[in-house]
Amino acid sequence: MRIILLGPPGAGKGTEAELLVKHYHIPHISTGNIFRALYKDNTTVGKIAKEYIDRGQLVPDDITNEIVRNRLNHADAKKGFLFDGYPRNVDQAAWFDELLIQKEWKLDAVINIYVPDEVLIERISGRRVCESCGAVYHVTNKKPNVEGICDVDGGKLIQRADDMEETVQRRLRVYNEQTEPVIGYYQNKGAIVMIDGTQSIKEVDTAIKKVLGEMN
Ligand SMILES: [Zn+2]
Repeated sequence: MRIILLGPPGAGKGTEAELLVKHYHIPHISTGNIFRALYKDNTTVGKIAKEYIDRGQLVPDDITNEIVRNRLNHADAKKGFLFDGYPRNVDQAAWFDELLIQKEWKLDAVINIYVPDEVLIERISGRRVCESCGAVYHVTNKKPNVEGICDVDGGKLIQRADDMEETVQRRLRVYNEQTEPVIGYYQNKGAIVMIDGTQSIKEVDTAIKKVLGEMN
């Protein structure tokens, strides 16, 4: 199964991605997570990427595409994959099509989860993350037992720089300008499915699996 999951930041892509990769036993490829890991490992690419991400901008295409090419060379990607957060603009989508042709791979589905901007801003700017284990909380929807403290390991909860409201506004602007056209790109190829992301996680999951031919 080869899937691309599209949708604005905060649409719940990450959560849906986890459910789908478990179900289909395919790797979850998030360029955002790869960049964060590269930054933690102190690599130059990681440091460059972080500067863009913290400003709410896209990491340059040549860097992102190379990361994707390398990741798809890993053995686990032969079984399929789920992309979350890539492609981010039409140039990346076209580059990715070329790569798939080279590999003689076909996409099974491009899924777009859509959510209105106001809902996204509320969802993202309320997000808090555990400094030590990465567990995710929300100031209104998913409070920890003790304010500011992780339920799992007692770690301190912080707001990621790219989750701050001002950065979120910028991320959404970048998304609307650059990533929205990607939806049009796949629409022209007749290859995209639209899912309402304001539904519950379970409803979104059911809708996606229906699309993938799991349920009727
Ligand atoms: Zn924790």
